[in-house]
Amino acid sequence: MSARVPAQTNDSEAARQAALDAYAIVDSGPEQAFDDIVRLAVTLCGVCAASISLIDRDRVWFKAQIGVDQSQVSRDLSLCSHAIDQPHRTLVIDDLDIDPLPAAKRRRLGGRPPRFYAGVPLLSPDGYPLGTLSVADVEPRHLAPAQIESLELLARQTQHLLELRRLMLEQGQLLSAREAAARTAEQARAELQRRHEELMQSASRDPLTGLLNRAAMEEMLAETRRRDPSERMPYTLLLLDIDHFKLVNDLHGHLAGDNALRAVADAVTASIRKSDIAVRFGGEEILVYLPGTALDGAAEVAYRIRERVARAPLPFAITVSIGIAAGDPMRDRPEQTFDRADQALYRAKADGRDRVVVDDTQQFDGIGLG
Ligand code: GH3
Ligand code: MG
Ligand code: MG
Repeated sequence: MSARVPAQTNDSEAARQAALDAYAIVDSGPEQAFDDIVRLAVTLCGVCAASISLIDRDRVWFKAQIGVDQSQVSRDLSLCSHAIDQPHRTLVIDDLDIDPLPAAKRRRLGGRPPRFYAGVPLLSPDGYPLGTLSVADVEPRHLAPAQIESLELLARQTQHLLELRRLMLEQGQLLSAREAAARTAEQARAELQRRHEELMQSASRDPLTGLLNRAAMEEMLAETRRRDPSERMPYTLLLLDIDHFKLVNDLHGHLAGDNALRAVADAVTASIRKSDIAVRFGGEEILVYLPGTALDGAAEVAYRIRERVARAPLPFAITVSIGIAAGDPMRDRPEQTFDRADQALYRAKADGRDRVVVDDTQQFDGIGLG
């Protein structure tokens, strides 16, 4: 039997514990590979009990066990603690009655005290003793050299399994660190994109009314021109101008004029669909592009706008004049459609304002225009 080595220093015990912690194995669930090893140990040595014991702080915890009554024991009562006193040797005690170990007294195998014990220390690659692969029996035993060798071979396999587990853990951690880095990069990219869109948005919006500005409209027109005419759908343009707006400014002041302008913009926005586009075209002129909408549909939108303007929450009444024209990308250019909408608006003004005039100079076969 081996003599006890001097007590370990606190530092080396901390390093030993850290080596065990790196496997994150203590208190893990049962695993077939470890269970198979204790089963093989029992068969090879012809004994009734075997365990893979790991020394965790002040207790010994069994990763796998056969024939051992407890699932963990306090460290000072463990045979395993004796075995690792000489970490590079297998401790074999044929008869604990002749060669007693204090810890053996409190251990039970199937309710009976152990008489035979053999433990092979399990070491980390740095040489720290983590625990043992051990076999025990309630009768005295003598293992043949080949059996001891087999037990030591199984202990090496257990160490390989532990290493495999640690490597997989490290891989997992590396992977999640990489995933976290990828997530951070993606968040940064999304933030950049959001700020870019915000900038584009503020550059393309008129600050007073919140409608798109003329530069944004030019950009959209250019985009449309790049597309094949056959892919573009017929549309209508609606051009709106506030009546006698100069007078509003003169009578109520420029700030009141601004409020009236905002109220008209709100009336327009509330009267159109998401796919329609409203642009602050000039001082108090608003252009609305209604894709896939025929003249009658656009006239309805115009009447809705007029109604909303009439109900606008303003301390004075205002009215608007609206000109409408239909465009077909297969037949004319947007500028021509705009000219016809402008002429319709001119007629609305000339006819007394506060009205909608629909351009009837073009007859299309297109949607709802026949
Ligand atoms: P009409 O019925 O013929 O359209 O008469 P009008 O007085 O509205 O004539 P016009 O359309 O030419 O007048 C445009 C006026 O709109 C001139 C300008 O003082 C005013 N205006 C343009 N932009 C703004 C603005 O941002 N705020 C205010 N308060 N007034 C504006
Ligand atoms: Mg006007
Ligand atoms: Mg005007």
